[in-house]
Amino acid sequence: MIIVMLGAPGAGKGTQAAMICDKYDIPHVSTGDIFRANIKNGTELGKKAKAFMDEGKLVPDELTIELLLDRVSQDDCAKGYVLDGFPRTIPQAEVLTNALAKAGEKVDFAINVDVPDENIIKRMSGRRSCPKCGASYHVEFVPPKKEGICDVCGSELIQREDDKPETVKNRLSVYHDQTQPLIEYYEKAGALQAVDGTKDKDEVFADIVSILG
Ligand SMILES: [Zn+2]
Repeated sequence: MIIVMLGAPGAGKGTQAAMICDKYDIPHVSTGDIFRANIKNGTELGKKAKAFMDEGKLVPDELTIELLLDRVSQDDCAKGYVLDGFPRTIPQAEVLTNALAKAGEKVDFAINVDVPDENIIKRMSGRRSCPKCGASYHVEFVPPKKEGICDVCGSELIQREDDKPETVKNRLSVYHDQTQPLIEYYEKAGALQAVDGTKDKDEVFADIVSILG
């Protein structure tokens, strides 16, 4: 069972990916983790990837796929795995489809955790964090006892740059331009399944389970 997670930043796909992995006992495969592990272990592929990263360049799709295939050839991926953060673009999806096809495999489910932009902006721009102890809050969903003050250490809470509405809007616009076409790609491939990501996370998960069986 090969699953690709799709959804805008802040849609909660990481949370759902973790819940899927837990229930079905399959690994959560993220390209970020693969890069870090290979670089840390000093593998040949890791050295190649690091050379690009050191120059501030994106790791090319072919190399990313090579690293990914190396990771999913390990025993723990035999029953399947959840891909998170890859593919992000159509060329990446095509390279992945071709690479999997060589092994007689395919993406079985592309799960789109669908949340309208305005909900994401509301979710993210309500986040507050403590610059001192790192505790996080949400003005609406997880408010501190005293407005603007950390429950743990009493410091004044801040809104991180990443959570400011303008930043969130920019990230969503990049997402729509680049990743939205993947939804159409996996729809054509017959793998797309959309879930309503505005629901409570346990309800979203129940919907996913009914899709995966
Ligand atoms: Zn604090």
